[in-house]
Amino acid sequence: MKKTIWVDIDGTLIPFDPTKTLEEVGRPGYSLKLPIIESIKQCIKRAYEAGYQVKILSAILNEYAKKDKIEITVSLPYGKEIVKGSRFVQYGESKTQFMEPGDILVDDFSPNLREWEAAGGIGIKVYNGINGTKGTWKGYSIHSTAEPENCVKQFMGILSMIDK
Ligand SMILES: [Mg+2]
Repeated sequence: MKKTIWVDIDGTLIPFDPTKTLEEVGRPGYSLKLPIIESIKQCIKRAYEAGYQVKILSAILNEYAKKDKIEITVSLPYGKEIVKGSRFVQYGESKTQFMEPGDILVDDFSPNLREWEAAGGIGIKVYNGINGTKGTWKGYSIHSTAEPENCVKQFMGILSMIDK
């Protein structure tokens, strides 16, 4: 049985803008205006095609944000399937509440990844061009700023190592 891969949205699948306030981010349609990061979209597609269970796991500020993020999820390749298993946690809540041991989390935020690994999962950090400045993450990682095909190669290589 292939592992389940949970994919974050903010800073992973769409850009994260640290200059925006929570109020701005919580407005209806905020996430929908942002472009989907092609390299992560391709990673999701390839992992799904390789037989992994791919699900979105994203923090939301309110029901508007949830609706927007569901729409983003459905727009992905295989999105109608992916959305069925996807989960949304309230902002500030732990992402580990839906995980099974061994599940993979793809996320740009190291505290989420550390918490995930402490609970028995495997983290893959996404370097998105603005995070990672402290260099504290020592686990698996991919670069969403890379050419999509290179990012997919990094990602699938990590998955094959994890699955051994
Ligand atoms: Mg994030």
